[in-house]
Order: sequence, then C-alpha cells, then structure tokens
Amino acid sequence: MEIEFLGTGTSTGVPQIGCDCEVCTSSDPHDKRLRTSAVLQADDGKEILIDCGPDFRLQMLRARHNHPCALLVTHSHYDHVGGIDDLRPFCAIHKFPIYAREDVLRDIRTRLPYCFTSHPYPGVPSFDMVPIADEPFYVGETLVEPLPIWHYKLLISGFKIGNMAYITDAKHIDDAVIKRLHGIRTLVINALRLRDHLSHMSLQESLDAIAGICPSHAYLIHMSHDMGLEREAAKLLPQNVSFAYDGLIVPV
Ligand SMILES: [Zn+2]
Ligand SMILES: [Zn+2]
Ligand SMILES: [Zn+2]
Repeated sequence: MEIEFLGTGTSTGVPQIGCDCEVCTSSDPHDKRLRTSAVLQADDGKEILIDCGPDFRLQMLRARHNHPCALLVTHSHYDHVGGIDDLRPFCAIHKFPIYAREDVLRDIRTRLPYCFTSHPYPGVPSFDMVPIADEPFYVGETLVEPLPIWHYKLLISGFKIGNMAYITDAKHIDDAVIKRLHGIRTLVINALRLRDHLSHMSLQESLDAIAGICPSHAYLIHMSHDMGLEREAAKLLPQNVSFAYDGLIVPV
C-alpha cells in the first residue's frame, strides 16, 4: 500500500487568506498546505480517499493517485467534506460509496440536498451512503478499522488500515486506542500549532500521543501557519516524526 498526502493544512489552508506572516509568504513548497486529505492505494490497487475537502478538485488534478473508488469521512466539518460535489466524475457509472458515521452521513445529506431528492436534476453526483459504526468493514479487499477519536466533544472517526493509522482533528485519544495502535508502522496524526487549542492537539500533545503509540514513523498533518516555517519547526521533532507535506507519497 501507499498513502499520498493530498493536503496537510488546517481548515484555512496555508497560506491563510490575507495573512502576510513569514509562513504565509514563504516560497518553500513545504509551507504551502491545502486542506487535509489523503488517498490510499490499497494492495488490490483500489484507491481509497480519506476526506474530501474544498481543495479536492485541485488536489486530484495534481495527484498521482487520482481515481478514488470510495470515500471515508472522518467528520463533517467543511474542511473535510466541502469537495464532495466534485466527486461527480467518479459517479458516472456507479453510485460513489461514502463511508461515515450515521451523523456524518446525515450532515452530508443536509449540505447536498439536491443529490438526494427522488428525481435528481440530470448530472448531479450520486452516492451510496454507507453507515459505519465501531466494527471493521471492507472496501473492496481492504479491511478498514474505525477508531473512535475525540475532536473536543465531538466523536469522530480515525481509520486503521493494515499497518497504518490515520487520525485527524484529534484533541484526545482514549488510552484503549493508544494501546490498540501500539507499535504500528505508520501513524498519521494531526498537530495544529505550538500553542494549545480547544479542539485540536498542539504539537506537544501530538508528540505525547505519538510517544504512547510508539510507531515506527509518524507523519503530522492539519498544520496551521502558527506552527512556523516547516524547516524551523522540523528541528523540534524526534527522529521518528516528520511533517507531512502536500504531494508526499509514503509506502505503508
Ligand atoms: Zn479539520
Ligand atoms: Zn500567516
Ligand atoms: Zn474538524
């Protein structure tokens, strides 16, 4: 399997509109982050998309893996679902499957009501809404294990697939999940900035979670411009942790 990071920025993206800080004006490509999302190429060759934010179209146009066959949604905040209408090209032959918790599917139906009417306007995307709970499920031949994750008070989904776990927008991870992921090969996990935040882990909180999980390697996602320049902030990381960047492809 391999994972391609389509975007690694927080909800505003980096640069942030109207900001002239040193990160937002940096010419280093590692400081340019579209909204967080990734695509996994599974062992059966199928491409599984994780989240579909407002930058999805641009991300697909520049991605190596640009033929997703299914979407896993972590939660329904706009930066993770704002691009779902742009799945249209993938809905031509089959209804495109979207796997998410029931509350997330409900939010998606509310945001895109025109896709779910009994007589939709010709050409609108069509989706197969697949509810998930705590039990593992298959996408093609790939086993996906949902992970309960706390985004402040909101229960959202992380995903364990093979020897990789993908966690975004976490503020707290229960000990049982930390134990379950112990020693995993590849951990993808969010780290917003150096300072504390109500609903997203700071860099230190993320490093603490990583220390508990002890992955062979961890990749950080969902960063804001407040993390600082990538080449400076990278000096704060232990050897088995790095910042992901847009376009990075990692075998997992
Ligand atoms: Zn987010
Ligand atoms: Zn800035
Ligand atoms: Zn969120």
